[in-house]
Amino acid sequence: MSRSPTGWGDGQASPGGGRYNMPVEQWICEPCGFIYDPEEGDPDGGIPPGTAFEDIPDDWSCPVCGAQKDEFEKLED
Ligand SMILES: [Zn+2]
Repeated sequence: MSRSPTGWGDGQASPGGGRYNMPVEQWICEPCGFIYDPEEGDPDGGIPPGTAFEDIPDDWSCPVCGAQKDEFEKLED
């Protein structure tokens, strides 16, 4: 899961280091606790790896419980 060798997080935000542009925001399904990881996507649901949550079609639903996108909460730390 968190195996990105050069992801952000090493120290302060670096002003010029914006070349790692993969989406990193994870979202959690409130009803069941499923976590959507953009690095993995949801291949079974037709979402290829590297897809940001906001880029997922609105008709997508949680692969575990079937909740709609608006039942997900962004994970922040
Ligand atoms: Zn769910």
